[in-house]
Amino acid sequence: MADKITRREALKGLLFAGMGIATGGMLLKSQGAAARPATPSAPWKEAPEGSKIDTRTWDKIGETLGMLGLGCMRLPTKSGGGGGFGRNQPLDQEAVNAMVDYAIAHGINYFDTAPAYGESEVVTGKALSRHPRSSFKIATKISNMNGRPTLEAGKQMFETSLKNLQVDYVDFLLLHNLQNMSGFNTRFRSNGLFDWILEQKAKGRIKHLGFSFHGTNDDLPGLVDLYDWDFVQIQLNYADWKDMSAGWGGNSGTTSSEFLYNYLVGKGIPVLVMEPVKGGALANVSDGVASVMRERHPDLTPAANALTFVGSLPGVMVTLSGMSNMEQLKENVSIFTDFKPFDESDMAFMHNVADLYKSKGQIPCTACSYCMPCPAGVDIPGNFKIFNSASDALLTSDVDRKDVVDKRKAFLKLYTAQDKAVRADACVGCNACLSKCPQHISIPQHMERIRTLAAKI
Ligand code: SF4
Ligand code: SF4
Repeated sequence: MADKITRREALKGLLFAGMGIATGGMLLKSQGAAARPATPSAPWKEAPEGSKIDTRTWDKIGETLGMLGLGCMRLPTKSGGGGGFGRNQPLDQEAVNAMVDYAIAHGINYFDTAPAYGESEVVTGKALSRHPRSSFKIATKISNMNGRPTLEAGKQMFETSLKNLQVDYVDFLLLHNLQNMSGFNTRFRSNGLFDWILEQKAKGRIKHLGFSFHGTNDDLPGLVDLYDWDFVQIQLNYADWKDMSAGWGGNSGTTSSEFLYNYLVGKGIPVLVMEPVKGGALANVSDGVASVMRERHPDLTPAANALTFVGSLPGVMVTLSGMSNMEQLKENVSIFTDFKPFDESDMAFMHNVADLYKSKGQIPCTACSYCMPCPAGVDIPGNFKIFNSASDALLTSDVDRKDVVDKRKAFLKLYTAQDKAVRADACVGCNACLSKCPQHISIPQHMERIRTLAAKI
């Protein structure tokens, strides 16, 4: 915990205390936190050359970090679009170099990757190796999620990460995708890997140790009590604040960003945030949701609303956004340059937006691809994305309304434009994907419903 706290943070603590949002005393200081102006302006402007994003300083780990981190799971691929978990599409090194250069020039110093993100470690390592080691912090993970991982395999994974990243230490190491104690025991305790990781930390090859969490509210405290973690990474966004079930499928009210955040802050543990835009879903909300946000903040895109919500929480160490192109990076940098936090009424407004978003019945898929590849060839996140583009029209009983008819037709067009082999129709219900989804989505059940809906239209 920090041993001092600025007056502004104390005031903010009082402000958010009334909303059930803990601030802790971890944050020593942050820069650039004036109130967001009410005056409408252009959606967003590129941050001026030479400007830097705002920073926060963390006494517990002795680091000053930019408020925005570059998530390297969805880096640009050679074929366009972003890469993903377990996907081995070749990445576009030149595009990544340009993004890394822009990020560092604008004060981003936190880069997050993992062995499980295809070529990400290698390409990120090459891009970063062109910069002084002191200008960036690298975070990678032990992604030993398959079968019963051995000590040797875990060691090799870490050594390969160092090689790929062209570094002799990592600043932040995460036990990847911890869900519960049983997973920790199997993957890290019983094989001796956790003891080995602690030895590497003592040798200085790992500066800070934490884990990324995908379990329920009940699972977090036991894992937190295992060790004096330097940080913990959680899924946090306005739609998941009260309940991660977020509509049609997903958890059943047992996980909420609010609980996870407040629990960690209460324990004095810096919070790293993943999925602030829910895998892009909160950047592409329905017209109804977007117009409500636009009315209140004409100068903010839906993605900017989502990122500002997260950045306004003072216990958040870094907001990680998985970016796939320069445009996304520039917009995100503009948000965190001279950052304007939401006030209490803005935060309350975002809780109402979350209710509206959930009423559209979207499947809470973050397009992370942890469930892929499907042995039957189904493009699971692809089908969910198409469903979500028309979820309200697909789930309403008012099927004769013109806008509903149009949306359902548009859904069918997108659905049938996919190769037959990757459509929901191809699902054979083998359940191989079920345990892999960190959002705990009932994937086969939803494939069946999408297939039925498409057949009916
Ligand atoms: S249940 Fe369906 S979507 Fe899931 S892995 Fe099996 S075939 Fe693929
Ligand atoms: S279904 Fe689950 S695992 Fe698959 S992409 Fe969506 S969120 Fe990720």
